[in-house]
Amino acid sequence: MRSWSAQNVPKLPGESIPLRLYDTSARQVRQTDPGPTARMYVCGITPYDATHLGHANTYHAFDLVGRLWRDAGHEVHYTQNATDVDDPLLERAEQTGVAWQELAEREIELFRGDMEALRIMPPREYVGVTEVVGRVADLISRLSAKGVTYELDGDVYFNVADAPKFGQVSGYDEQEMLALFAERGGDPDRQGKRHPLDWLLWRAERPGEPAWDSPLGRGRPGWHIECTAIALDNLGAGYDVAGGGSDLIFPHHECGASEGHAATGEWPFAKFYTHAGMVALDGEKMSKSKGNLVFVSKMRREHDPMAIRLVLLAHHYRADWEYVPELIAEAERRLALWRSATGVAAGPPAEELLATVRERLADDLDSPSALTAIDAWAEQAVAGDGRDTAAPALVRDLTDALLGVTLT
Ligand code: ZN
Repeated sequence: MRSWSAQNVPKLPGESIPLRLYDTSARQVRQTDPGPTARMYVCGITPYDATHLGHANTYHAFDLVGRLWRDAGHEVHYTQNATDVDDPLLERAEQTGVAWQELAEREIELFRGDMEALRIMPPREYVGVTEVVGRVADLISRLSAKGVTYELDGDVYFNVADAPKFGQVSGYDEQEMLALFAERGGDPDRQGKRHPLDWLLWRAERPGEPAWDSPLGRGRPGWHIECTAIALDNLGAGYDVAGGGSDLIFPHHECGASEGHAATGEWPFAKFYTHAGMVALDGEKMSKSKGNLVFVSKMRREHDPMAIRLVLLAHHYRADWEYVPELIAEAERRLALWRSATGVAAGPPAEELLATVRERLADDLDSPSALTAIDAWAEQAVAGDGRDTAAPALVRDLTDALLGVTLT
């Protein structure tokens, strides 16, 4: 499927710093250590509703990861999926009387526009699940050949008893797993399963639901296996970062990691499992099911997309935070300050600022501290301190390359 457009990223002078990132599975911040090509997979949207600020927060966080790696001289191989066939999408299509394909296409197009406006770098492969059903079915057959699956009324399940590493990504105990599994699309109570946490790999055709022919019979893939198959096909096992929102830690990334392990023998399937925090509105996590959403498409009709990006940058990516309108007002003031400061003929020297911003971002993407450092430089520049005529352009380049914020 078509990805979206990339911008040119200015090359910055001086030395970059290796990126340290929080790894959920290690429960600590560790240094990333990619090869010449850094490989990242970030779980995409289920396109039944427009991009909300919580989505933007996630894709923005991993955009920073890519920017830091590029600054350090790596190529970035980034893959993302779109879950363009799944229960919530089919339900929404049914409720609104729109064909599910049409709904998916429309919302994916809106998502592309939102990502472009926020200057989030596009994935190299943007893959709709409906494009790769055959590949996903092949991977399920591979797992079946290894004896880790079983069939139940035509559906295929992963047998959790055959997943020796299960639990290592999330670190959750069984009680917590069971609660989250039920809450996030799992079916712990289905009769005939060997264990409540066994998860669905293939759903046999049901009347009125879309289905594809495959060696497993007619049906469609389960959610977790689609990402495992797309990551494996495009990036290979042992890739650098698997990313998503913190609501994907369990069961989605936990199950995906065990699928990848069973298929390839490689552990960990991704070197880092990294997760962005949740954005709340009116005291509750923003979610489609609760309907408390701030849509990026609506926000960008009223505000400069760069101010929206500054709202995201003002929060640490792992933090859970609540959106209030004061945040966009504050971001607009900051954007105006930065634009005035980089519009002057000369400012204070900015080499030290560049080193500080790199250092702050390399420390588990500490963007709030990076913003504070840029604010201090900008205030001096608008006060007329400094005679460095190259400094304003350098600051424009650094906000562009490292933060994705263009000031021109
Ligand atoms: Zn995923």
